[in-house]
Amino acid sequence: MQPLIPDYLDEVLAAVAPSSSGETASYIPELAAADPERLGAVFATVDGEVYGAGDVDVEFTIQSISKPFAYALALSDRGFAPVLEKVGVEPSGEAFNEISLERDTGRPRNPMINAGAMTTHSLAGAEGMKPAERVERVIRWLSAFAGRDLEVDETVCASEMESAHRNLAIAHMLRSYGILTEDPRGVVDGYIRQCSVLVSARDLAMMAATLANRGINPLSDEQVVDQAVVRQVLSVMATCGMYDAAGDWATQIGIPAKSGVAGGLIGALPGQLGIATFSPRLDSHGNSVRGVSLFERFSSDMGLHVMEVPPAGREVVRSNRVRGEGPDRTRILRLQGGIRFAGAERIVREVLDSALSEPRVVLDVSLVHSIDDVARRMLLEVARRLSLDGHQVVLLDPETIIPEPDPGDGGSLTVVHEPEEALNPGVADRWERSDWGQRLS
Ligand code: GLN
Repeated sequence: MQPLIPDYLDEVLAAVAPSSSGETASYIPELAAADPERLGAVFATVDGEVYGAGDVDVEFTIQSISKPFAYALALSDRGFAPVLEKVGVEPSGEAFNEISLERDTGRPRNPMINAGAMTTHSLAGAEGMKPAERVERVIRWLSAFAGRDLEVDETVCASEMESAHRNLAIAHMLRSYGILTEDPRGVVDGYIRQCSVLVSARDLAMMAATLANRGINPLSDEQVVDQAVVRQVLSVMATCGMYDAAGDWATQIGIPAKSGVAGGLIGALPGQLGIATFSPRLDSHGNSVRGVSLFERFSSDMGLHVMEVPPAGREVVRSNRVRGEGPDRTRILRLQGGIRFAGAERIVREVLDSALSEPRVVLDVSLVHSIDDVARRMLLEVARRLSLDGHQVVLLDPETIIPEPDPGDGGSLTVVHEPEEALNPGVADRWERSDWGQRLS
């Protein structure tokens, strides 16, 4: 069989290829000279499969796509509070290079516009780090996301540096408000160097996939960044990543994204994949024209909008039956699928509605493929309450989907791994709060 996804990517690339609208970025002379016909798209799944079509290995400068990653670095190096004190998280609805700061605080509105991005750049590394060391740190950080050593395009860097009047103006304003606390020139230099890092669409897809994969690079398996930071970064990408087109993007495409003026565009779909496209001609917002078209197609063809509501949760309670007679009467609740808060609530209700009178209750999680923290705690609380009500509670968990089934204060829970043991759990492991960590048979 021929693989499906490369064929699909070839097809969508061919569909957008004829479009020649938009212009390459002109305010950075070196970018104006880029080949406008370049076109590529890459999907990188969270388990490390990479599919590409077109110009997937052509290098171009990362530009603003560096911003969410530099934000992640500032958050990791300094912690949330010091960063939030200096850079907000509100969509500005303004152009990326708008000379505007919050009226009362002087804070840039978000880390995706240049004012916010220069500020987050200044917050990378420990306080007082020299600008040159800081840029190195940022480049190494971007490299960890890409899974290879990235380098700076010195020509593009010099070209932007020469015409950086607007960014210098913004940086001086930030300095006057005390948001920047050092020489603004050094911050602008460092930020422009950060923007001049060379990447390919393949690199960008891997960087996005690392965000989609809770901060773990799917190829190197390295935990590059903390999960809490990833959530913050994806949220800001979702609300501010496309500047003054962010609302249109969020409603029509619905993938946390970030664009750059060299023509790159990334999208990160939590738990699924990272996407990158490359096409240098830009629309009036500074977003790649054909990149946006590609994402529109990806989103609708593949149902990738993050607000797409999944079909009313496949029942988490697959069946609820009673087996056996007399003292052997056993209530068996077979659970299934992925369980999160709403699924756990459904289970609690099922238990309450069943007004259980059987001496034994089996919670069968054999068909559960994932259970998040809140659902796990709710399920164990169900077990605790049932055991306090006098039931023997058995957890049938062949794959150990709930590794440490602590039933909590006063509760007791018998864990079995084979279906036959569920009805005869005499020899199985039992977990009790008072003996937490010990197995009693
Ligand atoms: N280096 C560019 C700038 O600061 C990045 C802008 C962008 O990609 N939107 O103007």
